[in-house]
Parts: sequence; C-alpha cells; structure tokens
Amino acid sequence: MPTRPRKKSVTSSQTVTPRYSTPLPVLVKATPEQIKRRDFDGLANFDQRKPLQPVRMFGAEYLREGSELNKAVRKSMPGQNWNLFIASNQLRDAHEKGDSYEIDAANQKLFATMLPPKAPKGFPANPPEEHAAMVSRIAGFWSHPTWSAKTAPVNLPPAMAHEMESARLVLWWNNRRKRFLPAIFCPDYKTAMYVHAVLRDLRACPGCDKPFIPDRLDQQYCKPQCSGRQRTRRRRAKLRGKKAH
Ligand SMILES: [Zn+2]
Repeated sequence: MPTRPRKKSVTSSQTVTPRYSTPLPVLVKATPEQIKRRDFDGLANFDQRKPLQPVRMFGAEYLREGSELNKAVRKSMPGQNWNLFIASNQLRDAHEKGDSYEIDAANQKLFATMLPPKAPKGFPANPPEEHAAMVSRIAGFWSHPTWSAKTAPVNLPPAMAHEMESARLVLWWNNRRKRFLPAIFCPDYKTAMYVHAVLRDLRACPGCDKPFIPDRLDQQYCKPQCSGRQRTRRRRAKLRGKKAH
C-alpha cells in the first residue's frame, strides 16, 4: 500500500513563532454615534501629532446587512469596487483549492467589474471618472503579463495590496483590555474590508457573493444552502460543456 508522504519537519533555518493568541485588531475611526454611546475600544494613541480620536475594532457588526454601519461600509466601496472585492477574494480561495470551475467564475466576475457600474438599489455608483480610473487599474494589474486563468499568483497580490496601501501596523493601547496590542489601523472601511479578508477573518461566499466571517478556517460558504446552490451550478455547467462537444 502506498504510504502518505510525511510532512517535512521544520529545518533549523526556520524560526517557528507561536501564532499571536488573539486576532490582530483591525481599527477604524469610531462613528459619531458610537462615540456618543461611548462604544469604542480605545483611542488612536499612535499618532502623536493628531487629536486622540476614538477607534473601534472592525468586526461582524459592520457586515450585518441593512445596518447603518453596513451601509457606511458599502458607501466606502461604491459601484464596481464592491464587486471587485468579492471577485478578488473568491479568486484567491478558488486558486488555492485549484478549482477550475470557481477560478473561471471568479475571473468572469472580476472582468465584469470593468463594465459600467450598476449600483444596487440604495447604494452609490462611482462617478464616471472614478470608474474610469478603476478600469485602468484593473487592466494594469490583471493584463500583465499576458493574462491567463493561471496568473493569479502574479496578479492578485499587487492588486489586493494596492487596495490596502493606506493600512498601518501600529502599537495600540487597548483601553478595554488594558493591554498594549499590535493593531492595523485603517483610515477607511474599504481598507478595513481588504485587511480583514487578507487576514482570513472574512471571506466572500461563492454561493451568494456576500462577505461573511467564517467560524472555521476551512469554511467556504456562508451557509449550507449556498454550498448546495454552487453544486447545482457546477453540475449544470458540466452538462452544458458536454452538450457543446
Ligand atoms: Zn452564501
């Protein structure tokens, strides 16, 4: 019987550091309402020359659909920015799984973001000049080198890194826990969404195209129905492929 190859042991050239025991806080400025309720986690005490602005840890409540916080998040990602976020995250996961059906689906969504934006009801569209800048950015990141379905390792890191360029790693005094913590400060919600996604605290469900906070590292869908829906789509696509030949 073939035996499974054993995992390579860590060599002396690598240092193993235990993973930081609490999630890395992603900080955003507290809203005036949060400040009024004194609902914040500390102050932006890492900027000596700026006023001590209250900050809040970005988390699940910012994703709750229909909430004021969620509306503010969507506003920070107008028009196709939202779809670009969803598609880039789906592509990352699909590429890691080596799932060609999902890689194709994510790429199609990604390239569709270059079309003029259709803002969902109640959400802002980008001004045309902003959309044009976004299209040229996508073309720049994604068509170089000559684009193919396999170029995610070349194109995805710079494209996603660009979206969170304004994030800063800081040392922060957390007033609730009375501890100094490393934190990532994000000046806007869009940056916070990308940082969260890159830290894998947030994923884009391939079944319903919504962001969600996974309970486990290997959770791919936000709910079981979405996994079922994706299975059906995949089966249909396979049948269509067969018919075409
Ligand atoms: Zn879903």
